[in-house]
Amino acid sequence: MKMPLLDRLLFVQGNRCFFCEQPLERSEASVEHLLASSKGGSNAEANCVACCRALNALLGSMSLKEKFRVVLNQRGPFRCPGRRGPGEAAPASELDASGPGPGRAEGLLRAAVQSLAAHEDTRPRTEAALRNAMRALLPTMTPEEQDALIASLKSSGKVIEEGGRLAYDL
Ligand SMILES: [Zn+2]
Repeated sequence: MKMPLLDRLLFVQGNRCFFCEQPLERSEASVEHLLASSKGGSNAEANCVACCRALNALLGSMSLKEKFRVVLNQRGPFRCPGRRGPGEAAPASELDASGPGPGRAEGLLRAAVQSLAAHEDTRPRTEAALRNAMRALLPTMTPEEQDALIASLKSSGKVIEEGGRLAYDL
């Protein structure tokens, strides 16, 4: 059985957006035709990439030339609309590069705290929700690293658990 095109593209791209290279959930992904279908672009894999929905909507049926302009207009790392910027959380790629070791644990903690600090209205209220949020934010984390991360969030007093509910002091 043949995999759907979107699944194939996501697999090939390591479940990251083609443009901004952020981890990309299937529900947030869509197939971008580099040469738009309306301009004769084919459905072949060579003409398609998986990217953030918001960017796909923005690119619409722009010509290739216009799309290049959008890409080139970005300074530094490419950022899809609606995605967090580099200052708001450590990019997962940076954490990958640092490899295992104390530097990585520190990087994971820093990324977690930055993300929680930046999202005051949507902070998880239970440990299970916090774990889910951390898994989505830092998909390269191992279960052991996740346990260590949650433990250090608590031991540092940044996350306070009271009667099964979480409070934050970031
Ligand atoms: Zn993207």
